Amino acid sequence: MEFKKTALITGASRGIGAAIAKRLAKDGFNVLINCSSEKSLNEYGKVLQKICEEEGVRAEVFACDVSKYEECEEMFRFTKEKFGRVDCLINNAGITKDTLLARMEPEDFEAVSNVNFKGVFNTTKLASAIMARQKSGRIVNISSVVGLKGNVGQFNYCATKAGVIGMTKAAAKELGRRNVLVNAVAPGFITTEMTEKIDEGFKEKVKESIVLKRFGKAEEVAGVVSFLCSEDASYITGQIFVVDGLLLI
Ligand code: NAP
Repeated sequence: MEFKKTALITGASRGIGAAIAKRLAKDGFNVLINCSSEKSLNEYGKVLQKICEEEGVRAEVFACDVSKYEECEEMFRFTKEKFGRVDCLINNAGITKDTLLARMEPEDFEAVSNVNFKGVFNTTKLASAIMARQKSGRIVNISSVVGLKGNVGQFNYCATKAGVIGMTKAAAKELGRRNVLVNAVAPGFITTEMTEKIDEGFKEKVKESIVLKRFGKAEEVAGVVSFLCSEDASYITGQIFVVDGLLLI
């Protein structure tokens, strides 16, 4: 049987995560599709599993809240059992709870922090142990341009996405000697359910300040992730790739 590498994608039920799962399956990776709950696994995960399998690879779905360490342990155990290894981890799961700082409740800060920030610690710790033993691996973290620039109404989200950049650089330095390469992608405005929530007037204003005069597509982020998981990226680590059509604000 032909050897295939395995990629685990968190928050892969919808949006950018689903596009990454499809793209990596097309690239020939077996994929572990992570959904946040059984409900989302049944609603989206199983459909995506079939789409990925049509590329001639194996696909499995696993429901797990990335903010819960024990659930992540289960997910990695399951992945090892099914595929024997973990070659790529894509930390994509993310949420927003936008509001001005004056109105932001401690729970809003904690909820976003638990998924976007602690979740990346949980999965990176577990994946790096496996990858260090394999003496090879790729980790791609999905940050955001607002983690580099800041944004009004996103104090919590910006903090987590800036934190992800710090974790990317620290992990790259720590894991490089084990041939585990760690990079981040920082998307700008990408059309998904996350950006659907934003006020239309504000979206038009943002579009005007993008040099390419349009929002990005999930597939355009997935293409960069695919490159970072490929042999062509074998000498790149600790880097942040901005995918924003040149957002000027
Ligand atoms: P989305 O359409 O809202 O999808 C979010 C995904 O995260 C869903 O698959 C969701 O799974 C998953 N998720 C949420 N909480 C989770 C948890 N606790 N455990 C596991 N999975 C969880 O968002 P998106 O636009 O595709 O965003 C994907 C990533 O890109 C996020 O990290 C986001 O911050 C980042 N990003 C997005 C944009 C943009 O413009 N869209 C820009 C910059 C960065 P369920 O459906 O199973 O709940």
